[in-house]
Amino acid sequence: MAAWSDALSLLKKHNVKWEAPTILHGRAVDGVARQIYAPRPVDARSFAVFCHEIGHILGNDEVGSWNFALEQARSFGLPVEEVKRTIRVYLFQNNPSLLPYFQ
Ligand SMILES: [Zn+2]
Repeated sequence: MAAWSDALSLLKKHNVKWEAPTILHGRAVDGVARQIYAPRPVDARSFAVFCHEIGHILGNDEVGSWNFALEQARSFGLPVEEVKRTIRVYLFQNNPSLLPYFQ
């Protein structure tokens, strides 16, 4: 199995700058900056948030960015169901209206 930290390779692939904030939520600054603020990907939750913010840089909306995170988990050979579970917990706490998209 690949490591969660393999997600760091997405930064180079998509020309995105990254900073780890002290908070747990991520943020993406689109346009020329191509900058994300996200936790270092060390587990399913941080991986999901990290990839979600890159998803926004690539022009995805909320649902699209979470799907991007799931796609990346799949392509890295990481446990997709675990990532989906953490996304559902995150959405339950922060954006419950999107839960139906991630059954
Ligand atoms: Zn988002």
